[in-house]
Amino acid sequence: MTSPTTTPEAVLATAKKMLEDGLVEGTSGNISGRLEGDRVCLTPSSVAYDTMTLDDLVIVDLDGETLSGHRSPTTEKDLHLSTLRAYPELGSVIHTHAVYATMFALAHEPIPAVIEEVVVYVGGDVPCCEYRGTGSKELGDEVASKLADRGAALLANHGLVTCASSPEKALHNAALVERTAKIIWGARAMGATIHPLPEKVNRDMAGVYGFIRENP
Ligand SMILES: [Zn+2]
Repeated sequence: MTSPTTTPEAVLATAKKMLEDGLVEGTSGNISGRLEGDRVCLTPSSVAYDTMTLDDLVIVDLDGETLSGHRSPTTEKDLHLSTLRAYPELGSVIHTHAVYATMFALAHEPIPAVIEEVVVYVGGDVPCCEYRGTGSKELGDEVASKLADRGAALLANHGLVTCASSPEKALHNAALVERTAKIIWGARAMGATIHPLPEKVNRDMAGVYGFIRENP
């Protein structure tokens, strides 16, 4: 399979949109994009998105060795690289501290896929990873295992991670999951009974997710 690739320009534009969309604040969260030649573009550690430039991005190999850039890459680089190494069909990983999704992460509770488009874009419920320390290799392995057949996962007591063939699509997944978490939170606040999708709809739409993921 030829892996999907992107550009540093797309990583930077997506980082700025992630801030505009309210999915992160300050310097939190991070983005990776697979580049040609088994290289990965990562956002840097501790640089504000609004002033970030192409010069701040860091290019590493798939093992995390810096190839170019004068900044330190995000301290969460292992969750990006573990995922991109494991799944050649993916081209980007995004980590955010989106508020409503993080509420579920605190509860260690999956976000149920009760809205059709979530199944199509994410593949099913958004699972919650076992707690592992921030920035650790163990967290990277745990995240990669949860993203085997999903476009998003929760980091216990921390936030959200999404993946897709491009930074734009990974950001779309982050916004979709955040919106879904907000809707479910609201429906529960109303005291509503949340009904699952019919089993067949779930299965068929998860099949669509699998096809899109394998054919980026
Ligand atoms: Zn984080």
